[in-house]
Amino acid sequence: METPTLINVGGTSRSGSTLVHLILGNAPDAIACGEVVSWFRPEHTHHFEIDCPCGRRPCPVWNKISTASANQFYSTAFRELGVQYLVDSSKALSWILDTHRWARNSDYAVVDVVVWKNPLDLAYSFWKRGHDLMFWRSQFVKYYGRVQQLRLPVVAINYGDLMQRPRETTASLCAAIGMPDYEGKERFWEGEHHHLFGSLGVRRQVEAGQSVFVSQQNFSDKFATKVDALSDTINADNEVQQLIHFLKSVDVTESSAYRRSEPYRPPHVYPGWYFAQRIKRVYRRYYPATLIHAGRADDIETVPIRPAIKA
Ligand SMILES: [Zn+2]
Repeated sequence: METPTLINVGGTSRSGSTLVHLILGNAPDAIACGEVVSWFRPEHTHHFEIDCPCGRRPCPVWNKISTASANQFYSTAFRELGVQYLVDSSKALSWILDTHRWARNSDYAVVDVVVWKNPLDLAYSFWKRGHDLMFWRSQFVKYYGRVQQLRLPVVAINYGDLMQRPRETTASLCAAIGMPDYEGKERFWEGEHHHLFGSLGVRRQVEAGQSVFVSQQNFSDKFATKVDALSDTINADNEVQQLIHFLKSVDVTESSAYRRSEPYRPPHVYPGWYFAQRIKRVYRRYYPATLIHAGRADDIETVPIRPAIKA
């Protein structure tokens, strides 16, 4: 049997990582487990309870693995669930670094995928939820800049490409990370999933068992009036353009995108933001944000299907 493989699916908020991780988890020998980081390092009140989209109480998958410690979680899950692939959409780079560290003392491999949206699409995703027109930029530069600085051996997948050519892009992604592909794998909503947290919209598609890929982004009329000026700004932004160049250089369609040579070695000295992310989550364990604090349920990245506001 091949070495079991953990696939981290990262990206900024609103990048489409929940969707991509469910596509990868849509196979008999794989499980998409969602934002595992929020189970072990909770930030919001709903992170303290497992409310699995499979609808069963208790969930037969999480019942076997939820009590493992964080550093033993993936080894436990591979052993208890007997799958070849675990797909994680935690996104937090501090967690992704930790998964590489834990894997070095275990018998599974780690593969990193990052999902990204074209800046205009990302801008729209945030803007329509009430953020500033340029809110996307700090998210984009911070996340993908750190990925590049860490020299993580990532495969990048562009969300727009996936929407326009779901079958071909899924096949390219599977080929790039060495995972078996099959016709229909992209229709994640046809499978049963056990992922924690993540995009509410995507979860509703899973629960409804139906969806479609929207091949063309339709901007609202109000946003459409801003597109020309915003495009000019994006095109003139060297830092953003450099990151787009980087992401395209490791795109799933690039034959050299991924070389599973040797395990990634995390940096000897972790960057300051690693500790900041860890400390923030320790604080949040004791003072978790509620969905009310975080804004409307639809506005935040990690939401349960039934917004459970616990006391
Ligand atoms: Zn479940």
